[in-house]
Amino acid sequence: MDMYFLGTSSGVPTKDRNVSGMAVIEPGGKYWHLVDCGEGTQHQILRSPLSLQKLQSIAITHVHGDHCYGLPGLLASAGLGGRKDPLKIIAPKGIEAWVMETLKHTAMFLPYEIEFFAVESLKPMAVGSLTIDATALSHRVPSFAYGFVHQDISTKLDHIKLESEGIPRGPLWGALQKGDDIEFEGQTYRNKDWVQVNSIQKKVVVCGDNDAPDSLDGFIEGCDVLVHESTFTAEFATRAKEVGHSHAGLIASYAQSQSIQNLILTHFSARYAPEGKPSPSISDMRIEAENVFQGQLFLASDHTHYRLDAVGSLHQLSPC
Ligand SMILES: [Zn+2]
Ligand SMILES: [Zn+2]
Repeated sequence: MDMYFLGTSSGVPTKDRNVSGMAVIEPGGKYWHLVDCGEGTQHQILRSPLSLQKLQSIAITHVHGDHCYGLPGLLASAGLGGRKDPLKIIAPKGIEAWVMETLKHTAMFLPYEIEFFAVESLKPMAVGSLTIDATALSHRVPSFAYGFVHQDISTKLDHIKLESEGIPRGPLWGALQKGDDIEFEGQTYRNKDWVQVNSIQKKVVVCGDNDAPDSLDGFIEGCDVLVHESTFTAEFATRAKEVGHSHAGLIASYAQSQSIQNLILTHFSARYAPEGKPSPSISDMRIEAENVFQGQLFLASDHTHYRLDAVGSLHQLSPC
């Protein structure tokens, strides 16, 4: 699974960062899912390898504008670009009414169907090759985290056992590999006794705005990558709590307590300059988080592309 950041600023865009938007790309690299759609997200997509024709679902974390104001424009552009495939949108209930009214009042008739799912009552749902689930967070309005799970099941014939039994290579081995039972010299060989099944699960959790990381208790189980907001540094911890946000140290301590292997911070307040610039900058957040978190730490910027490998390690593909 890959993650591609389209917007990493909180509240308002800056010259370097757009407001919230992030792609979860399915293994294979073609189909993808969008989490949040701040204004301008479609412009960011144009500067990325992503295509609106391959978009499988949109998941909106909460109703604040920096997470959803880009939705009507993106839906319209997908239609004008010739999209015909239905599109699933998982979002707080109010979003459906708002989007449908906006499309109606602006005479935008989409040539494809939108299927809405209320996140408040979402059950784990298979979309493309992933399963999507959600849990409630703590913010000024109802806000949610989404879990994206990919299950890779592979089968392998037990060559050593088959050879020791004297079962010849060829069609009989092929039938077992396909899932069939076989007959050999008057005996039945059951497929399940000769094939090893390996199942590898990978899970990425992408959070909306949240001032209480422990809201994720339980939901975070088996998580390989946690993507969480870090709007402020600890210097503004009181302010952060007042406005329903986290600071870098708070989420990094939580990730450490949950033995999270990979943590990506995003949704930085516009008051912080890019990494490497004089303080206050995103470098301050890195220092604060590194003090308490021992896993792999990443601070996202727009158009950073990460890949989660088979052993659960996260790599930054671009910019290099
Ligand atoms: Zn926000
Ligand atoms: Zn918010």
